[in-house]
Order: sequence, then structure tokens, then C-alpha cells
Amino acid sequence: MVEVRYRNGVELPDCKIWLDPHDAKQLAFVSHAHADHLGRHAEVVLTPATAVLMRARLGGKRVMHQVPYGHRIDMNHFRLTLLSAGHITGSAQIFLESEAGSLLYTGDFKLRDSRSTQPCQWRKAETLIMETTFGLPKYCLPPTEETLAAIVAFCQETLAEGATPVLFAYALGKAQEISWVLLENGLIPILPPSTYRMTSLCAELQPSFPMGFLPLSHPRPSNGVLVMPPGRKTWAALKEVHPRRTAILTGWAMDPGAKYRHRCDAAFPLSDHADYPDLLRYVEWVQPRRVLTLHGFASAFAADLRARGIEAWALSENDQLQFML
Ligand SMILES: [Zn+2]
Repeated sequence: MVEVRYRNGVELPDCKIWLDPHDAKQLAFVSHAHADHLGRHAEVVLTPATAVLMRARLGGKRVMHQVPYGHRIDMNHFRLTLLSAGHITGSAQIFLESEAGSLLYTGDFKLRDSRSTQPCQWRKAETLIMETTFGLPKYCLPPTEETLAAIVAFCQETLAEGATPVLFAYALGKAQEISWVLLENGLIPILPPSTYRMTSLCAELQPSFPMGFLPLSHPRPSNGVLVMPPGRKTWAALKEVHPRRTAILTGWAMDPGAKYRHRCDAAFPLSDHADYPDLLRYVEWVQPRRVLTLHGFASAFAADLRARGIEAWALSENDQLQFML
């Protein structure tokens, strides 16, 4: 089996590569351009789209080994293939093979179709390292189209009442997905500078992206919907927007009371991550001999898999000790 080490990040020592480390490394696979997956590494393996987004977000210079989906490169006696992760624009999983065995690392992923990402691809692998953000049985997302229709209805009703709809969505990923859907429904997304920049880049990378989204500085059309990143800065900027109705778009809206926690008028369970049934489905597809879990309910999901007869350990928590023994 391919050796896996966890030292404040996932390392594959035989391939001399780290997977999504935050600390600067000599060689790292960068699965996608969310801030918690970027670092100031000397050399990175990533998709061409993630390279564009990483340059925009992090700046600086580094050697970029750009690998399109499905292409293979050889590195340190390993064969590396990047596969779509279905998470955000450019997001990838990495599949590695050597004489020691095969390994698939998902990064952040989701199985459901979305407009701004390519469908998730997979390979059978001996070791599966997977993210388990929603690794508890209670996290089961409703059908995506149902959620999107509810968000559009929320915006239309708000506009009909003469108020401004405000959707809280992260600048990269969720903002593009919801902007796309708003434009399909005759609504105009109004985006603050960071979100506008990311959306413009994603639209360049994906020619089918609908045009018509506007920057916040533009005079607001009567069918305009503000799409803002959640956070204190946004609330400050919203002081002048009256009347308004706010909604948070997050997978955590599956938890009851999400709208109160986020101090919003509504909460919609839209996520870029796999829900619990899809996490289980993925393990079935990949048919691994060993599963290593990361993020969210990693220990609980690993225990769940062991109860189903699959060897599984959480990489970043106390399970690590048992895994090493
Ligand atoms: Zn992410």
C-alpha cells in the first residue's frame, strides 16, 4: 500500500508530495483554489483552471505542473492523474499509482451535478483519502433543484415586496453557482469586488457561463439580487440597503435553526460538498481496502465504515494513533 503520513497535513513520502498542505512545501498537490487549500509552495500540481484562480488569489511565483482532467504525468516513480471533483471550478482529485499500490485523494468533492463544475469522476483505488465534512447520517441534502427553486422564489417574492434580496454565498464556488441560476431565471446577480473578480475569471474559464452579472458599483437594476460573502464586512456594507431580506446558502442549513445562527431571514441547504449518502456511495464505487478520512465528522464516519466491515481511520484526529499502531 502507498504510505500515508499525517503531520499537520497529508504527506505521501514515497512520492515526495503533500496533499493540500497549508504550510509551504517543496511539492504539493493543490486540489482547488479555496483559501484553506492554498499555500506558498515551491512546486504545485494542479488543473489549469485552479492555476488561474490560485494566481489571482495568492500571487507570487512558483513552478506549476498544470494537468488537465484525465491526463497523466509521471513524478517520483508515481503515475499521477487528476480527476474532476465536482466541488468548484477547477477542483480536482488526484489518483496515484506505483508499484506500492494505488491511492485516490478526493480533496473537497461532491457527486451531485452543478452548473459551474464538471461532474465528479472516480477510479477504483486501494487507499481512499476522502473529505467527510457531512459524515453523519443526519446530513442528507434535499434535491438540489428543489433548493435552487426555493432560492429563486425567495428572491422573486422579496423583489415583489419592494425589498432587495441578499444571498450570502462564498466568493468562489457558491457565488458562481447561484449567479448562474439567477441569470437563468431573469434575475441579475450584483457582486462585490472579490466575488465579481472570481466570477469573471470563472466565466472566462467556462464559455457557457451566462453573462449579465454586475459589480456592486453599477446602478442597481430592479431585478437585482446582491450575492455577498458572509462576514462582518458584508453586514457593514448592507447598512445602506433597506428594505432587504437576507438568506444564507450553506450545507449547514440542514441543521435546524441555521437562519437564527446566521441572523438571516432564511437559510437554504446548498452545498459544494457530498452529503452523507453520497459519501457512502463514493466508498462503494471506489472499493478501497483502506479509507482515511479528513475534515468534518472524520472520526464518526471512519467508525461508521468500520462497523460496515471497511478498514477506516480519521487522519487528523485521535484515530491517527490507532492507525499508526
Ligand atoms: Zn473547498
